[in-house]
Amino acid sequence: MALTGLEIFKLLPKTNCKKCGMPTCLAFAMQLAQKRAKLEDCPDVSEDSKQALAAAAAPPMRKVTFGTADNQLSIGQETVLFRHEEKFYSPTVVAVTVSDKLTGQDLKNRIEAINSLQFERVGTQIGAGAIAVINDSTDPAAFASVAEMVKQSSNLALILVSDSPDAIFAAVDKTKDSVPLLAAATADTAETMAKIAKENNCPLVARAESIESLSELTEKIKSQGAEDIVLCLHAESLRDKLYNLTRMRVLSLKKVFRPLGYPTISFIADGDPSQQAAIATSLICKYSGIVVVDTVEPYAFLPMLTARMNIFSDPQKPVQVEPKVYPIGEPDENSPMMFTTNFSLTYYTVESDVEASRIPSYILVVDTEGTSVLTAYSGDKLNEKTVADAMAKHNVESLVKHRRLIIPGYVAVMSGKLEEATNWEIMVGPRECSMLPKYLKEVWK
Ligand code: SF4
Repeated sequence: MALTGLEIFKLLPKTNCKKCGMPTCLAFAMQLAQKRAKLEDCPDVSEDSKQALAAAAAPPMRKVTFGTADNQLSIGQETVLFRHEEKFYSPTVVAVTVSDKLTGQDLKNRIEAINSLQFERVGTQIGAGAIAVINDSTDPAAFASVAEMVKQSSNLALILVSDSPDAIFAAVDKTKDSVPLLAAATADTAETMAKIAKENNCPLVARAESIESLSELTEKIKSQGAEDIVLCLHAESLRDKLYNLTRMRVLSLKKVFRPLGYPTISFIADGDPSQQAAIATSLICKYSGIVVVDTVEPYAFLPMLTARMNIFSDPQKPVQVEPKVYPIGEPDENSPMMFTTNFSLTYYTVESDVEASRIPSYILVVDTEGTSVLTAYSGDKLNEKTVADAMAKHNVESLVKHRRLIIPGYVAVMSGKLEEATNWEIMVGPRECSMLPKYLKEVWK
């Protein structure tokens, strides 16, 4: 939580020496509080005050990263309880388990199944983010061997799950260059696990049975020099999980309770794929930084990823595509030309229906500030002028030799004015773009 000007003032030398360029220390403190000055501008501030100010300025929830290169994942650093207050920043990582009891082809098949959990939705690639290797065997050598195999066979980030410091030590030794997340330290193993995490620059999960014992555990781990911590709180039911995660979020963000100022992880290994998907989706909404499931069923995975995509979008910014002309297939000078708006969901729905028609076409995307056809029309962001301007800007006349433009059926009312503004023949398309394949085959000639 940011300090007020008066709170900052108490930490300054109070000599009013003006070396910072301000007439008084109080004026400097006010500028600092509004982020219009830097602490370094005061040469006389003490080391203790610097540390106190830095600690107070730290975000209430720490950002924790694991994995490397393209698959480096960040969780935490959230600032609000409710998405509409600002936005949620770090999309929940969906991880899938691999048991270290698997060997040979079974192990390869499992890794391959997880690797293939990738989908495209409204132009964005979504999928599993991490593989959690589970030390079911209790054998450190088997755990290390499977962890190494996963590292070699997958680009996904790695989570090493064992209560045994020996097993974690053996597996980290084989995988430390991929910066795995280590799970988990308990009250009994905190010192050894924190030492392994610190020496290998890996983040560490702290696991406990109650919020109070978890708070003590994170302080203990931190005192060993391991700063990147992920919280895991035991709970019997989904109700308890949601209650605990919400309580921890409130304590970290609203009370700035530093021992709980970390992202969280939840393990969902029970139940059939549908049940796992339902639980994981609930925990993506509130407030798990990582969910670990053991299903690899695409039908269970896609709803979790879709929910995550929606929850972690910015509620104040519609998801948009770039306004321009998009060729679908390999259109030529005789191909249909149509327009839609740059609201992402609208564009990708139209695109997929045009693709389904198998008739190569052009789609002109008009900039309507990310709003759908009817919303844009009623807000006067879509009218004959904006469409004519977009046609001129993107030089559609050079792409086709005909002069016929298909417009969405919902804005048929603008066809007369649009014809006058463009000198193109306006063809009114269907209201629902799912009818476009039929329209293009039967009406477009
Ligand atoms: S330089 Fe430091 S001590 Fe001097 S007036 Fe500015 S804030 Fe105060």
